[in-house]
Amino acid sequence: MKKSLLDLQGVSKSFRTADGAPRRVLDGVNFTLVEGEIVALLGKSGSGKSTLLRIMAGLIPADGGSVSYRGRSIVEPVDGVAMVFQSFALFPWLTVQQNVELGLEAQGVAADERQQRADAMLELMGLGGFGGALPRELSGGMRQRVGIARALVTNPDVLLMDEAFSALDVLTGEGLRTDILELWDSGSIPTRGILVVSHNIEEAVMMADRIIILSSDPGRIRSEYVIDVPRPRNVDSAQVRTLIDEVYGLMT
Ligand code: ADP
Ligand code: MG
Repeated sequence: MKKSLLDLQGVSKSFRTADGAPRRVLDGVNFTLVEGEIVALLGKSGSGKSTLLRIMAGLIPADGGSVSYRGRSIVEPVDGVAMVFQSFALFPWLTVQQNVELGLEAQGVAADERQQRADAMLELMGLGGFGGALPRELSGGMRQRVGIARALVTNPDVLLMDEAFSALDVLTGEGLRTDILELWDSGSIPTRGILVVSHNIEEAVMMADRIIILSSDPGRIRSEYVIDVPRPRNVDSAQVRTLIDEVYGLMT
């Protein structure tokens, strides 16, 4: 049996609304990410996808239930689980190189090793030679490559991607998605499992081994859909179009 990387049992989370009343966003979410898989988490806007991902990244606590990474409870960000954000979340006053090295600094990696690893990761992400640039000097697609390099440079087991392509224009987003899948499918990155959050059905069908859908009211994982078409997938193939239609049917 494949090992579980992330394990969530009965996770709940409420926020206070403007009038102070609590509103339950997640209500008994069960989910396991196992080694070797890409899972896409789909759901409508406001269904709690980002909240769920932030809980898995240890950025915010759950109110109830258990969240663990390789059997250890997640209560704060842990080495081994890295996240990529929709808005890139780069530090604008730091260079590309410094942004990528940040995660390694937090782990206490020595300066020369930090530089080497950041260089290698920037190269892998197609950003060789851009280490000295500031984020504002780069296009959106390149900025997100920096965001991904920063996440991957720590060699995380688990990569969490929150709408990582949706701030980019369609072609740029597709190009980046294709590159990530190529790195993953060829074993060029050490990551053992990827969770992509999206509201884009096509993106989910193109990437995932398994799709799960988060429904709101209550915020639960409603259905699961296994995709056994090998990657790379052709978005125009009849097989993929059928999958997209089927998943669309599950979401509505
Ligand atoms: P999604 O990523 O699926 O669009 P979110 O997880 O961002 O959904 O948000 C789910 C719900 O929780 C939304 O109604 C949102 O307004 C609310 N919410 C998220 N974060 C907070 C917060 N920090 N305080 C109050 N409400 C929040
Ligand atoms: Mg979101």
